[in-house]
Amino acid sequence: MNKKSKVVVLPCEAYEEEKIYNLLKAGLKELGGLEALIGKEEKLLLKPNLLKKAEVEKAVITHPVVVGAFARILREKGYANIVLADSCGHGTTRQVIQGTGMDTYLEKYEIPAIDYTKGVHVDYPQGIQAREFILPKELLEADCVISLSKMKTHALERITGAVKNSYGFIYGKNKAIGHTKYPSADSFARMLIDLNQYVKPRLYIMDGITAMEGNGPGSGDPIAMNVILMSTDPVALDSVFARLVYLKPEMVPTNYHGEKMGLGHCREENIELVVADAMHSKQLVSMENLVCRYGKPDFNVDRTQIRSNVWTKLAKALNIFQKKPYIEPEKCIRCGICVNSCPVPGKAVEFRKGKENPPVYDYKKCIRCFCCQEMCPKKAIKVK
Ligand code: SF4
Ligand code: SF4
Repeated sequence: MNKKSKVVVLPCEAYEEEKIYNLLKAGLKELGGLEALIGKEEKLLLKPNLLKKAEVEKAVITHPVVVGAFARILREKGYANIVLADSCGHGTTRQVIQGTGMDTYLEKYEIPAIDYTKGVHVDYPQGIQAREFILPKELLEADCVISLSKMKTHALERITGAVKNSYGFIYGKNKAIGHTKYPSADSFARMLIDLNQYVKPRLYIMDGITAMEGNGPGSGDPIAMNVILMSTDPVALDSVFARLVYLKPEMVPTNYHGEKMGLGHCREENIELVVADAMHSKQLVSMENLVCRYGKPDFNVDRTQIRSNVWTKLAKALNIFQKKPYIEPEKCIRCGICVNSCPVPGKAVEFRKGKENPPVYDYKKCIRCFCCQEMCPKKAIKVK
């Protein structure tokens, strides 16, 4: 990749449909126009972040107004063949969006929300980490995929944004299996890069009006970041997100490997930043200026520097000094979702003291994928 990647920043302080509609139009104009990106005859698949059923204000899922405003633009521009789907962490697409307002928008714009029905094995011989995937039939039938991610923290990858949103392309339970195949943050990130390079979403939009900090991606706290980001380069987009939260972009494994593997640009000198407003006026800005205007230095994200040396390798081999999940017993309702989410054969978290007590971890088995923490409906699982 030689050319600079453009990231469009759309400042926005509230989920107001008309404003977001105009901002997204302005963003698309900056990226060369919708028609230049997507052919009218193409079958489109919209992929929001639908991790699990949650109140919209909790910032777990992509906000319905962002999805609705984008759907409106597509319809007004004459795109006829559109569906929306995700391989959700818990529940199906239709279950997760029900009652959020996203379902109402989709009905209004006659866009079916579909539940994936079948996984198809695909080979990807040029993959660096992953040479095969199980992908939904309906995803493979689409000509063009558009990623609508949410700006959130993530226990394994520090942040989840454009690159990580694509993990929802993996069909059903194969997502859990993927964590056992790619257990480290680095191998998981490299697999995600391969996945993005295989599926090649055409456009990445990130809802960062209200982001999630802290114990993300399912149990963190909402925080106003007041921006929507757009790009055709997911690595550039995520590295702008990282800078806005005062996290060195190369400390995010998907950025580091994303640049090395040629998915996109992470370094500042290779990113062109444009701030656009709803009136379609625009401003080229420096990263420093952007961070000064919209950055949040106190955004709660893991900024621990991990140096790979002989001691960290030894600590990992001995299973010590690693991040680990734990349960706050007073918050636990004994629902068992964490147990069901654990991909490790024989379960690394289990009701070992009976169902009247919270599940107990076996850290010798635990691969630190943090699926349990992502899925807990009561924010009872923390990472220390
Ligand atoms: S998912 Fe959360 S609430 Fe449910 S059993 Fe596990 S820790 Fe408890
Ligand atoms: S216990 Fe939690 S973090 Fe450990 S392997 Fe199971 S799901 Fe992953």
